[in-house]
Amino acid sequence: MSVFERIAILGAGLIGASIARAARETGAAKAIVLFDRDPGVRERAGAIALGEIAGDAQSAVAGADLVVLAMPVGAMAEAMAEIAPALAHGAVVTDVGSVKRAVAETLAPLAPPNVFLIPGHPIAGTEHSGPEAGFASLFKGRWHILTPLADARPEYAAAVQKLAAFWRALGADVEEMAPQRHDVVLAVTSHLPHLIAFNIVAMAEDLENVTESEVVKYSASGFRDFTRIAASDPTMWRDVFLNNRDAVLEVLGRFSEDLAALQRAIRWGEGDTLYDLFDRARRMRREVIDAGQDTAAPNWGRDEKGQ
Ligand code: NAP
Repeated sequence: MSVFERIAILGAGLIGASIARAARETGAAKAIVLFDRDPGVRERAGAIALGEIAGDAQSAVAGADLVVLAMPVGAMAEAMAEIAPALAHGAVVTDVGSVKRAVAETLAPLAPPNVFLIPGHPIAGTEHSGPEAGFASLFKGRWHILTPLADARPEYAAAVQKLAAFWRALGADVEEMAPQRHDVVLAVTSHLPHLIAFNIVAMAEDLENVTESEVVKYSASGFRDFTRIAASDPTMWRDVFLNNRDAVLEVLGRFSEDLAALQRAIRWGEGDTLYDLFDRARRMRREVIDAGQDTAAPNWGRDEKGQ
C-alpha cells in the first residue's frame, strides 16, 4: 500500500536511484519523479526507467507530497532555496545526507512554514555512484535514522510517523536521534574509517620505496578492503568532513592518541598490550555480525551477492 502519492527525488545517484527502485518495487509511492542537475545523469536515469524525469527542480517538486534531497550535503542549501516557492502545502521534505546537524541548521531557515522538514540518513550504501549503482534492496535490514526538528505541532509528529512508515516500507528499521548524537556516532562508525582509508591508500601511492605496481599486485591482504572504502565519491566525502568538523576532529584526536600508544607498544615490545587490544577488536567484529550488520561469509559475502 502506498505511503505517499507522489515523491520527488532530487539527485539521481546511488541513493536517489535506490529510493526510486525500492519505492517502485514495494509500492511505497504511487508516482516517482526524479531530477538531477547533470543532464547526462538525467538521460541515464531515464534510460533505465527509474521514474518520470523532470527537466528542472521546481517542476519535479510541484505536487509532490514527499521530496527527498539525495545530493551531496554541500549542494542542499541551494537546492532547498530553489524549490521552496514550488513546494506543495503540507509536503514532507527530507534528505539522506551523511551529516545531520549542519543539514538541519542550513535547511530549516529556508523551508517554508507550510511544509514539514524532517532530516534523515540511511545507514546503507556502497562505494559506487550514479544512477546505475542504485538497487531496490539497499535499505533492507539497514537502519534509517531520522533527526526531527524541535517542532511541537501535532501535524509535524504525524509527518514524522508517515516518513518513518515510508522507510519501513522500503525495508529499513527506523530510529529517531538528536542530530548532534547522530554526528558523533557516525564520526566513529563511518567518517573516521573513511578518512583512515583515504589516507592509507593515498600514502601507499606516495611511498617511494615500494612501487605502485607492487602495492596493487599484493593488495589481497588488508589493503584491498581499504581501497574499496577509499573508492567512495570524493565530492560526497569532502562535504561530510566540511560539515561534521567538530565531531570528526574530536574522534580523530582520540584516535591519534590511541595510535601513539600502539606505536609505543610496538617500539618497546609490549606484546600483552598489543594482544589485548587486538582481542578486544576481534570481539567487536563478532558483535557487529551478531547484530546483523554484516555477514561472517568470507569476502564479506560480496561474492554471493555479486557486488
Ligand atoms: P551520487 O551517486 O554521487 O549522486 C548524487 C547526484 O546528485 C549526482 O548526480 C549529482 O550531480 C546530483 N546533484 C548534485 N547537486 C544537485 C542538485 N542541486 N540538484 C539535483 N541533483 C544534484 O551520490 P550518493 O552516493 O547517492 O549520495 C547522495 C547523498 O546521500 C549524499 O548526501 C551522501 O552523504 C548521502 N549518503 C550516501 C551514502 C553512500 O554510501 N554513497 C550512504 C548514505 C547517505 P553532480 O555529479 O553534477 O554533482
